[in-house]
Amino acid sequence: MHLNQRQLFFDHLAQTSDFPLALEIDRAEGVFLYGANGKRYFDLISGIAVSNVGHRHPEVLAAINDQLDKYMHLMVYGEYVQSPQVKLAEALVETLALDCVAPSPFGLIDSVYFTNSGTEAVEGAMKLAKRFTGRYEFVSCFDAYHGATQGALSISGAEFFKRNFRPLLPGVKQIRHGHLPDLEQITCRTAAVIIEVIGGESGVRIPSAYYFKALRQRCTEVGALLIFDEIQTGFGRTGHFWAFEGVDVYPDILLSAKGMGGGMPIGAFMASTQLMTVFRNNPILGHITTFGGHPVSCAASLATLRVIRFQKLAENAHAKGALIKSLLVHPKIKEVRGQGLMLAAEMESFAVLKPAIDRCILAGVITDWFLFCDNSMRIAPPLTISEAEIREAVGIVLGELA
Ligand code: PMP
Repeated sequence: MHLNQRQLFFDHLAQTSDFPLALEIDRAEGVFLYGANGKRYFDLISGIAVSNVGHRHPEVLAAINDQLDKYMHLMVYGEYVQSPQVKLAEALVETLALDCVAPSPFGLIDSVYFTNSGTEAVEGAMKLAKRFTGRYEFVSCFDAYHGATQGALSISGAEFFKRNFRPLLPGVKQIRHGHLPDLEQITCRTAAVIIEVIGGESGVRIPSAYYFKALRQRCTEVGALLIFDEIQTGFGRTGHFWAFEGVDVYPDILLSAKGMGGGMPIGAFMASTQLMTVFRNNPILGHITTFGGHPVSCAASLATLRVIRFQKLAENAHAKGALIKSLLVHPKIKEVRGQGLMLAAEMESFAVLKPAIDRCILAGVITDWFLFCDNSMRIAPPLTISEAEIREAVGIVLGELA
C-alpha cells in the first residue's frame, strides 16, 4: 500500500527536482513528524520556517474547529465584515505599534491586506509601491528569495533560477545585502527597495543595524518605499516578534506569511492607511483576491500570534538559539550563524554537508540546506522546542557528522 503511494507520488504529482525527499509522513505533533512506518523525526526546519508554534498546536486546532463551525469562504476579499479577518488585522497592527529610532515617514503601519502566500504578499506590495510612487524600478538583493511568481521572481537574487523564465519585469537593480556603498543605487527613480532583515535562503546573513539605518535614510531621502520581507523572519523566529525590532528601523511596507498561519496558508502585506488607500480608486479594486484572508486561516493565525505572544516564544528563542550554538560544536562545523531560532551551521562544502543531512534524516532528524547556500545546514525548529528536545536532536546531528 505505502510502496504504491510512493509510486503514485512520482507518477502524478508534478515533480520539480529529480531528488525529492519523498518521505511519507502519517501525522505530526509538536516538534515531531511520524513516518508511515511509525518512525519519529525531529522537525528541525519547521516545514521551512512555518511551524513556529509546532505542528498541530492545540490552540490553533481549537481556533480552526471553532471557525469551521461558523463559516469558511463567504465572499471575495474586502466585501464582507468577517470577524476572523478583523480580529487578526487588529492584532497585527497592535504588534506594529512600535517606536523605532528610524521611523517611516508614513507613520505606523495600521492597514493589512491578506493574501494566501508569501509570493502573493510580495506581488501585492510591488503593485502598491508602483501605484503609490508612480515609479516602476525596484532594488533588491543578490541571493534574496522573494517567491516564485513572476514579479517576485524578477526581484529574487539568483540568475540561475531566472534565466530561462525571461523576460521578467524591467527596471530591477540588485545590490549586495549589507553593503553600504551599494545604497547609491537607490535613486529618485526607485519605487521601492525590498529586503530581508535577515537573509533566509542566502544562508542566514545578518547585516548591521547601522546598515539598516542608512538604508532607511536613503529611501526616505529619495522617496523610495522600504519593504521588509519578513516572510521567513516574522512571527517570533529571530527572537523578536518582527526581526526589524532588532535593528530598530521601521519599514513602509511589511510582508508576512509562512509561520503566520500556524500551519495554515496565509500571508499579508501591511502598510499605513495613507499608502494602502491608493488601491481604492484609479482603478477601483486595485488589488483583488478570492481566497486571501480565508477565515479559517485567519482564525489559525490569530491563535498562533497569541500563543507566540503569551508564551513569550520570541523572547525564549534567544536562549534556545544560544543553547543550540553552544552544543553544535564539531570539527566539521566552521561556524553557526543566526539569531533566535533561525540558524545556519556552515561546513566546508556541499560534499561534506549533503551526506550528513542524509544520515541525519535516516537517524530521525530532518534538516536541510538553503536555496542559495549549499554548504550550510538549516536549523529552524519550532519555537516550542524544549531544552531536552534540543539536546537530543543536536546530539543526533553531532553523532551523524562523525
Ligand atoms: N520571501 C521569503 C523571504 C521567503 O523565504 C519565501 C519562501 N521561502 C517567500 C518570500 C515566498 O513565500 P511563499 O513560498 O509562501 O510564496
